[in-house]
Amino acid sequence: MLTFAQTGRSAPARRKNTDRVTDFDEIYKPLEMQKLHEQSERCAQCGVPFCQSGCPLDNNIPDWMNLAAAGQERDAWDLSAATNTLPEICGRICPQDKLCEGVCVPGQAGFGAVTIGAIETALSERAWDEGWITPIKPKQELEHSVAIVGSGPAGLAAAAMLREAGFQVEVFERADRPGGLLTYGIPSFKLEKDIVLRRTDWLDQSGVHFHLNCEVGADVQLADLRSKHGAVLLAGGVYEARRLNTPGAGEDMVVPALEYLIGANRLGFGDTVEAFSQGRLNARDKQIVVIGGGDTAMDCVRTAVRQGASKVTCLYRRNETNMPGSRQELENAREEGVEFLWLATPKAIHGKNVVPNKIKAVRMQLGAPQADGRAQPEEMPGSAFEVRADMVIAALGFSPEDLPSKFAAPDLETTKWGTLSVGRKGYETSLARVYAAGDCVRGASLVVWAIREGRDAAAQIIHNTIAKELAA
Ligand SMILES: Cc1cc2nc3c(=O)[nH]c(=O)nc-3n(C[C@H](O)[C@H](O)[C@H](O)COP(=O)(O)OP(=O)(O)OC[C@H]3O[C@@H](n4cnc5c(N)ncnc54)[C@H](O)[C@@H]3O)c2cc1C
Ligand code: SF4
Repeated sequence: MLTFAQTGRSAPARRKNTDRVTDFDEIYKPLEMQKLHEQSERCAQCGVPFCQSGCPLDNNIPDWMNLAAAGQERDAWDLSAATNTLPEICGRICPQDKLCEGVCVPGQAGFGAVTIGAIETALSERAWDEGWITPIKPKQELEHSVAIVGSGPAGLAAAAMLREAGFQVEVFERADRPGGLLTYGIPSFKLEKDIVLRRTDWLDQSGVHFHLNCEVGADVQLADLRSKHGAVLLAGGVYEARRLNTPGAGEDMVVPALEYLIGANRLGFGDTVEAFSQGRLNARDKQIVVIGGGDTAMDCVRTAVRQGASKVTCLYRRNETNMPGSRQELENAREEGVEFLWLATPKAIHGKNVVPNKIKAVRMQLGAPQADGRAQPEEMPGSAFEVRADMVIAALGFSPEDLPSKFAAPDLETTKWGTLSVGRKGYETSLARVYAAGDCVRGASLVVWAIREGRDAAAQIIHNTIAKELAA
């Protein structure tokens, strides 16, 4: 171990930019076994492992690095899977530069961070290849049942924990495939879909019952789930797209980011997408402008490149340093030919009857910091300019739906942001035996946080159910 000074950081090979933009396959090649050993040995085995605190799942990284370096991959895998339900997914799509690797001591010391995410993925893929991952067989089947609303990472992580404890688990999902944003939001060049479906199949084989095309609040009511099940876990994410407020924002050429990405992911499954066939969601030969600077915006620009757009521009009101998206994704987008217009914001969209279609925009400058510590962008007088845009993709973030109305549950308390209130009682909402986890509690966040909350909420449901039984 501790070879970080002699052996350099070696990240998994990236496919060449000119090659990877021709398809929607993942862009990173898996880390080979020999590299896995070599790179694990770089771990500094810190007495106070900052990487572990940088990981929302509190993954025991130094210990599994030690085992992996010693060639004990099975033990390393067991340890990594003990705290993470979806390690092969986190290894691929966690923004490691902002989490575990961002605080890695060799990285901080200028030697390059240990490639934690790539090693986690490689160990997990080895586990799948070797058949170490088998369906969950609870020691004892219990009569207790839990209904989970939503099959994103929060719902899936909770389902696995509850099945391990022997609970009967039913997942209600309004989409036609399980996985939430793992399936329909995140593009396959970051996360191929068979990786997600392999996990949902595993849960299916583990006895989790998925009800697809079943929307709670429409096809089935929350009240019915509460009367049928011992507990309900709400894990429906956040799906209300924030809208552009400029004149012309309602034009047909303005597309919400998630509608665009869902369309692209559906095409990857071989589905027919009418709005794509009719051209509205098809970027081919068009000049595309994506508005926003987060990971969703990065996914949209890179999808547009792959669909054959003639030019892709990203317009963001702050500067590069203050963009919320991952650095790695920015670098990938740049390499793939995306142009960035920092410190710029749209003022009007001219689509109908204007040839060529365009956006009128203005330059911004950064003013005093806001309450969240980020600098407030302000318009620069006299800085108007125009950008050609045949299609505008709005990637401005997401808010929660009105869940008390949707679920006909006026007593379901929400925060001032519309997310579900759970704070006072761990993950239990204001409704007895109704819990909540993931983005619908935290607001739009990360997969790894959804997994963490799904696991913790499941642990609380298990604890409360058993405690009640013992007290009876
Ligand atoms: C485009 C995009 C890219 C992203 N990229 C990354 C990334 O690279 N890395 C990362 O860590 N995070 C990323 N994220 C964020 C991440 O995907 C989310 O934080 C995470 O998926 C939240 O998990 P969740 O389980 O809370 O909700 P979701 O994944 O949103 O799943 C919720 C599920 O509930 C279902 N549902 C909702 N309401 C109902 C209802 N009433 N009845 C039945 N079903 C319902 C939905 O259909 C959905 O399937 C990205 C997000 C987006 C939008
Ligand atoms: S789950 Fe994410 S943050 Fe945690 S060790 Fe893995 S890649 Fe890093």
